[in-house]
Amino acid sequence: MEQILKEVDLQECPLCGGPGVLEEEGQWCFYVSCLDCGAHTAEIPYKEAGERLTAAKNAAHLWNIGKVLRPDPGE
Ligand SMILES: [Zn+2]
Repeated sequence: MEQILKEVDLQECPLCGGPGVLEEEGQWCFYVSCLDCGAHTAEIPYKEAGERLTAAKNAAHLWNIGKVLRPDPGE
């Protein structure tokens, strides 16, 4: 994970300008979420270790171009 974080650049949250964080879910996907408003990208799945970096970069790319989902109401 540390190696991946060095390779991936995250911009600020496209909705609120808060800090984005790359998250890995259960060793099968990556997504980026905002610490402030809870906006997040779709989950980008990977099947094997060799695909992890690509999945992480794809999640970061979605984030950086503003393709994020709004947080669910009440969450
Ligand atoms: Zn935000």
